[in-house]
Amino acid sequence: MKLLRYGPVGSERPGILDAQGVIRDLSPLISDITPEVLAPDALHALQALDVSQLQAVPGQPRLGVPWTGMPTYLGIGLNYHDHAAEAGLPIPREPIMFAKWTSCVCGPNDDTLMPIEATQLDWEVELGVVIGKVARNVPEHKALEHVAGYCLTNDVSERSFQIGRSGGQWSKGKGFDTFGPVGPYLVTPDEIGDPQGLDLWLKVNGQRMQSGNTRDMIFSCAQLVSYCSRMMTLRPGDLISTGTPSGVGMGMKPPRFLQIGDVVELGCPALGSQRQRIVGAQENPLPDLQHGPHGTRGFLQHRQGV
Ligand code: ZN
Repeated sequence: MKLLRYGPVGSERPGILDAQGVIRDLSPLISDITPEVLAPDALHALQALDVSQLQAVPGQPRLGVPWTGMPTYLGIGLNYHDHAAEAGLPIPREPIMFAKWTSCVCGPNDDTLMPIEATQLDWEVELGVVIGKVARNVPEHKALEHVAGYCLTNDVSERSFQIGRSGGQWSKGKGFDTFGPVGPYLVTPDEIGDPQGLDLWLKVNGQRMQSGNTRDMIFSCAQLVSYCSRMMTLRPGDLISTGTPSGVGMGMKPPRFLQIGDVVELGCPALGSQRQRIVGAQENPLPDLQHGPHGTRGFLQHRQGV
């Protein structure tokens, strides 16, 4: 089952993708795809639906984050051997956890705002793991029982703030507005099977930069869920982005970073694809804070005339 949210920023409606790739409207049944909808029983109820009875959504609406109310967005650093090597850093002995502020999340095809002081804007295609059931001190062999599904993520990163201007930890360079494209879908585990066999790819301006497979992860999804659940309580709706394979801009010789006007495309056959255009934050000032947490995306949507 592929769950999604479609429509203008801040007024997304719940939907489900049918076998023909048509979006069906879930709004007569649920008000939104909230963390409660990601609970095992609620997902089973949705899976039992005859989606052909639901209204088809016309056109190609904008897609939002596939669920709403994400409590925590965790990133995992250096989780592929080849990426650790290109970063010139040793293989971690334990998972590296960092925060992506939940204010950075956006739809899979929304523009990426280049921060005003950015000099090293970079890309990272990743597999995201979505929690559906509270996880606290969960053993590895039970960890995936707490997973509602998987999604594609771009762990957009600004390296000068992640490393040079970080003060010793990475989150400053990971959490700018629009640094968290998520989606297009949340795909339930029955459609994925083993999450350690998924191809990931990413292109910049049509040129292939990253080609990886989740089998090359240092710590598996089950290990990561178990490990993180020993460091904190994982809650329904939490997202863990599980690290990126090699091919990021920072690892190139010479390094290559994103410029305004560049287009980033990424995907995974099982999870769908994303496309972001890089636009300048300077030319696109943030809206007044009184517009609330969706202000940035609302502004982008307005700017794009969607
Ligand atoms: Zn990453």
